[in-house]
Amino acid sequence: MSHAFNRLLLAVLAGVVAACRPEPTAAPITAMKSNSSTPITNSAPSAVKSDEDWRKTLTPQQYRVLRQAGTEAPFGATYEEFKKQGAGTYVCGGCGAELFSSKEKFDSHCGWPSFYDPANAKNVITREDKSLGSVRTEVLCAQCGGHLGHVFKGEGFPTPTDKRYCINGVSLKFVPTGGGTNSGKP
Ligand code: FE
Repeated sequence: MSHAFNRLLLAVLAGVVAACRPEPTAAPITAMKSNSSTPITNSAPSAVKSDEDWRKTLTPQQYRVLRQAGTEAPFGATYEEFKKQGAGTYVCGGCGAELFSSKEKFDSHCGWPSFYDPANAKNVITREDKSLGSVRTEVLCAQCGGHLGHVFKGEGFPTPTDKRYCINGVSLKFVPTGGGTNSGKP
């Protein structure tokens, strides 16, 4: 082989290696296996939209919670609806990813929808939140990065995990088992 060909080959290989190098992620995020404390390294959210698009597709209240990590008022309309909802799945209000199910919901009397575990753990990620001067664990949708709420442990609830995923109702969309009307839509 000629020197010119070797140089060309090396240049092509260098380009392939550079293209395969993963992009660095902005913040460390982990997903928790259901009923387990094993963290799973997770990639960056895949359902990415521009801020302008989120503003167009979400209600102002959903935008404030999902995209700005706001908190809805406790004991609001979505909480009252949540208590009445039967069997079904709770998907992300932003991107539709499956997050929780009615099987893991429980009444914690805290004023927000509560679950003791995610239904689809790969779609739920957590990260440390020091925003209020204390350390809390924020819960987010892995697919769109939307803020869902926080998870608290060891509060003494008689559930299989003793965890309380305290989730804003406007971050969720309820899909009843077997279809029907989406009565949980915020
Ligand atoms: Fe989402």
